[in-house]
Amino acid sequence: MHVETLEILRCPYCGARLELVESLFHQKTAAEIHDGILGCHCCVFPVVDGIPVLHLQPAAVTARDQVQAGRPELARRTMIGLDDEAQAAGFEAAAASDAATYRDTVAALGPNFEAGYFLYRFSDPTYVVADAAVRTVANIVLHGQRRAIDICGGSGHLTRSLMTVSSPPPVLADLYFAKVWLARRFTAPGCEPVCCDGNAPFPFARGTFALAMCTDAFMYIWTKRQFVGEMERLVDDVRRADGEPGAVLIGHTHNERTWTPSHGQPLSPAGYRDLFEALEPRVFGEAGLFDDVVNRGILDLARHDAADTLDRDPALTILATRHEGVFATHRVEAMPAARATGEFRLNPLYTAIPDGERVQLRLQFPSEDYADEYGACRAYLPDEVTVDREAIEALPGAAVARSLAPLVTSRVILDLPKRYY
Ligand SMILES: [Zn+2]
Repeated sequence: MHVETLEILRCPYCGARLELVESLFHQKTAAEIHDGILGCHCCVFPVVDGIPVLHLQPAAVTARDQVQAGRPELARRTMIGLDDEAQAAGFEAAAASDAATYRDTVAALGPNFEAGYFLYRFSDPTYVVADAAVRTVANIVLHGQRRAIDICGGSGHLTRSLMTVSSPPPVLADLYFAKVWLARRFTAPGCEPVCCDGNAPFPFARGTFALAMCTDAFMYIWTKRQFVGEMERLVDDVRRADGEPGAVLIGHTHNERTWTPSHGQPLSPAGYRDLFEALEPRVFGEAGLFDDVVNRGILDLARHDAADTLDRDPALTILATRHEGVFATHRVEAMPAARATGEFRLNPLYTAIPDGERVQLRLQFPSEDYADEYGACRAYLPDEVTVDREAIEALPGAAVARSLAPLVTSRVILDLPKRYY
C-alpha cells in the first residue's frame, strides 16, 4: 500500500486514523508499506503483501499474529485461505512466476474459487451494462481529477473501467483478500486494494471519494442501510469541499419482485430507494440499459422507468447524485479498436478452428449454467464468424488488423488485461 493511503484510511470501529506501528515487525520503503501492523485507538490490523486487512475475522487475526512474529509469507497464505499444503505451494509458485496468467493463478486457488464467472466476465451481459454505466458516470463525475472507490469489487473487472478516469487511482475494497490481490496483479494494476468487510462501516474518511460504486454484490450485503449510508458518507460533498457533487452507483443488484440465479437477499425497487437518506436515488431496470448499450449505442439516464417496468426486471441499477448532467442521455462509445489498454485477445468463449487461410471462430459456453445465466450475450456475440488467419495469429497485440475491428465492437475480440489467460 502507498504510505499516503494512510491519509484516507480510518478504523471501521473507532473511526480513528491508522498508523504503522514502527516498534513491531514491518517492511517498507519511503513510498510503500509492504508488511506491518496498523494501529488506531481500539485495534491493530495487519498489512499483508501490501494490502491493509481492516477487519477482525479469524483469518485476519491469525495473519496479524503471523506478521507480528515476522512471518509475512505465512500471513499471506492465511489471507489467501489455502489450508492444504500442496495447494498453497501451487499458489505460491504461480504468484512467484512472471509467466503465470490470471487463469493459471485462479486455477491454483482451487475449485471453490469462482473461476468461470471471472474468466468470462469481460463479455457477460451484466458487465456490458455495468461497464457502460461506470465509464459514463465516472467520466462526468471524476473527469480524471477526482477519486473513485469500487466496493465489493472482487477481482477488479470494473475497477479496471475506472483506471483512466480516477485520479488518484481507484481504491478497490473487498472482503476476499485473494480477489483484491488478483486485481492488483492482473485485472486493475495500479489500483489501491483494501481488504475490508462490506457489512461493517467502511474504513475510509468522510468525503474521500467523488464516486462510490458497487456492482453485482449489493444483494449479498445484509446491512444494506448501513452500506448505503456509508456510500453517501464517502462521497459527502460538504466534507470534500471541492465545489462539485459526488455520486453513488449501485449496479446490477437483484430485484425481490423476480427470481434470478444466485439471488441473494434483494429488496424491491421501493425498498432500495428507502435506503438513501442524504441523496435522492433513481432506479433503472437493467433490460432498458442493456438495450440502450447493445442496440442503440447510448445510455439513457434521463429515463424514468415505470413501476411495472422495474418490478419485471430481474436486475436494477441505482444512481444517486446531485451532479448536473448525469441524468441525461449519453453516447456510449463502442469498444475502441484503436489501442488496447491491456492487449487485444480472442474472447475466451470462442474456439478457433483453422481452415486454410481462414479461421472459424465458434462461440462455446463453458457450461449449461453459464448459458442459462449469461445467454443474453448472444445479442452481440455471433455463434460463428470466419476471419483472416493471419490477423488472428498476430494477436495478442496493442492494436488489431483493420479486418478485425468489427470483432472488437462485437466483443469477439476483447481488450483484456495482460497475461489474462
Ligand atoms: Zn479503532
